Amino acid sequence: MASDVQNLMELQQADKEILRLREEVAALPKRVAVIEQKLAGTKASLEAAKTAVKADEAAKRKYESAIQDLQGKISKYRDQSLAVKTNEQYRALLTEIEFAQQDIRANEDKILELMVNAETRDKAVKAAELELKAEMAEIEKEKIQARERTAEDEKQLAEWNGKRDQARAGVSETLLRHYDRVFKFRGSGLAEVRAQKCMGCQVMLRPQTYNDVRNGNMVICESCQRILYFNPSNEVELEAANNAHQRRRAKPKADAAQAWFYRPDYAEHGEVLLGFTNESGNSSRRIYDFNTGRQIGDVLIREGNYRLAFPEDMTDETIRLNGHWDEEEMEEWGTEMPMTALDALHTDLQLARSDHAKHHAPKQEHSQAVTSEHPAAS
Ligand SMILES: [Zn+2]
Repeated sequence: MASDVQNLMELQQADKEILRLREEVAALPKRVAVIEQKLAGTKASLEAAKTAVKADEAAKRKYESAIQDLQGKISKYRDQSLAVKTNEQYRALLTEIEFAQQDIRANEDKILELMVNAETRDKAVKAAELELKAEMAEIEKEKIQARERTAEDEKQLAEWNGKRDQARAGVSETLLRHYDRVFKFRGSGLAEVRAQKCMGCQVMLRPQTYNDVRNGNMVICESCQRILYFNPSNEVELEAANNAHQRRRAKPKADAAQAWFYRPDYAEHGEVLLGFTNESGNSSRRIYDFNTGRQIGDVLIREGNYRLAFPEDMTDETIRLNGHWDEEEMEEWGTEMPMTALDALHTDLQLARSDHAKHHAPKQEHSQAVTSEHPAAS
């Protein structure tokens, strides 16, 4: 069984790596494509800028040849004016010359305008050329990187596939089928259990299930179907953190909305844990077996604060404990308190007793009760 879990852990790691590498390999050409698209855009604007320059040059040539024609006409009129007989004819020629000169000036203006524009057009062409050059360099770099990356990824993929095959060979067919199915839908088929929770779906395990996992049995999470495993070293850390926290035991708050108590003598049940919650003018009471965490009876709700509503539960033997769980969470417990909650209350009781002993046994003058709401006779 333990080797199954070990192999499944290796298999899951390989499967996740393979997925990641495949996604990366698939994404690389897309990056190059994006730059290629940008490049095509730059090429088009460069072409447009060049075409505009050519059109301007053609227009300039047209105006220049018009000017030449007009100058030709003017010299023809001048020749004619030498031969005219009347003043009227002479004046008519002068008017013609005047008109031609006006036309020349108009064409010259247009040429000047084109020359001014040409500077802007040249700048646009040069900028597009520079951009194109930079993008060409970038795309070459990207292509080389993508090629190298792909080659590296393919190499790693081959390695992971090898590891995957090896891991699969060490797991039974039935388990593999189950793992594959869950992995396909959830992206993982195996989950660690920490603090009695499935780390895959964060749902609390039943105490029996938790014990099975801790004992190394092959257990499947009832809620997410992942195969569960337990890593003692992680749990040790967690417990150490809890212990460090609990070593400095806080005195339970008298006005807390929720209060937990230990009672050693609860009717025929003996040792029990009592949980009271005050809410909107009512109070509720839950009773659990101290050793198993099983709920005794139903949740009882009475009017008023729990101290007033359940006076018969407060005896001299009652010891107030630290603990708070949301109503919703307690609903989820069902008829069994989870082992983590039970452990926490057990630990707190131990601390409460040792605190009590420290404060009461050696020196009688310290009679202040720190562990119990009702000072026990010392
Ligand atoms: Zn789960």
